[in-house]
Amino acid sequence: MRTTLITFAALAIFLAGCTTISTVPPQPVTAEDPEPRDIWISEMVAELGWTYDRGPGAYDYTMSSPQGDRVVFEAGSDVFNVNGTLWRQERDAFDRRRDLRVPESTFNFLCKHFGRHDLVRGPRRQPKAEYTLDPITPLPEQEPAGTVKVTSTLLKGLTICIDPGHGGKDPGGIGNGVQEKDVCLPVSLMLRDLCESASAKVVMTRTTDVYPELDARCEIANKAKCDLFVSIHANISPTDDSVTGIEVFYNQNSEPGALFARALVGALHTATGANNRGAKKDPRGLRVLEKTGMTATLVELGFLSNAQEARLLSQKQYQEKLAKALYEGVVATWTRNRASVSK
Ligand SMILES: [Zn+2]
Repeated sequence: MRTTLITFAALAIFLAGCTTISTVPPQPVTAEDPEPRDIWISEMVAELGWTYDRGPGAYDYTMSSPQGDRVVFEAGSDVFNVNGTLWRQERDAFDRRRDLRVPESTFNFLCKHFGRHDLVRGPRRQPKAEYTLDPITPLPEQEPAGTVKVTSTLLKGLTICIDPGHGGKDPGGIGNGVQEKDVCLPVSLMLRDLCESASAKVVMTRTTDVYPELDARCEIANKAKCDLFVSIHANISPTDDSVTGIEVFYNQNSEPGALFARALVGALHTATGANNRGAKKDPRGLRVLEKTGMTATLVELGFLSNAQEARLLSQKQYQEKLAKALYEGVVATWTRNRASVSK
């Protein structure tokens, strides 16, 4: 079947007898770039402005330059031919769907060989983490939707919108070196995973460090016809850094909102032992409580202006405690007061 391969190999051996096979220098491996990399022949010709063809054999691939240069590869072989001279590359070429993959060092070699030093590929930097909080407590990698294991049906039928406050250009409050947006997001993502694992449908207003406008956040929740909405924040006291504790706001005209807020603040206080500042009627007309058409609350997880609480809020363990408590508050609300809170 693979007669061409044999022919090519025989040709290579024959040519090797009269010509030497030189070795392409391998890709330098750096700490930044620990993986050996490959490139497709279609990419190589696109970059070089060449063309490529399969044939004459089923496993041959020929690259041609406009000036008449020819580079011939064979799938399954580490030998290739540049205008009649044989070279050995780092690894075998590999074909798939009429395209051929070769080591990137081969591409770099060809770029230099044909005077296209501008196309030579350097080491690749590792992508930066999307967000960081505290070098001592790195955040968990965000799991793609659908990977959470469903462990119960406690929240079956519930659609909940989780709104991590601030984000992107808006850091929220900053106290003791901790930005509010960097507390809101991880706690919200943990809460999302917990709710999903209990069979709830979760809608997020953001899952990365971006800033959706307040109206857009409300619209996301309204469009998804959510039963519950919870906006996650942390507090700042501009005048008194001894102030600590948890408080949860609800729309003053919403009795179901009061029920939900009481369940959340109770669970948070029990889990953390933090000062319980209570469930409170929102005196400010907060947009996310006014413009959402469902039972809505805004949670203040603690005060960043207080050094000790700021330290706790930036720790992954404490964030997990908060998320778990919020989850318990959601479960209590959904199992006991479902009829009144859902529409
Ligand atoms: Zn806030």
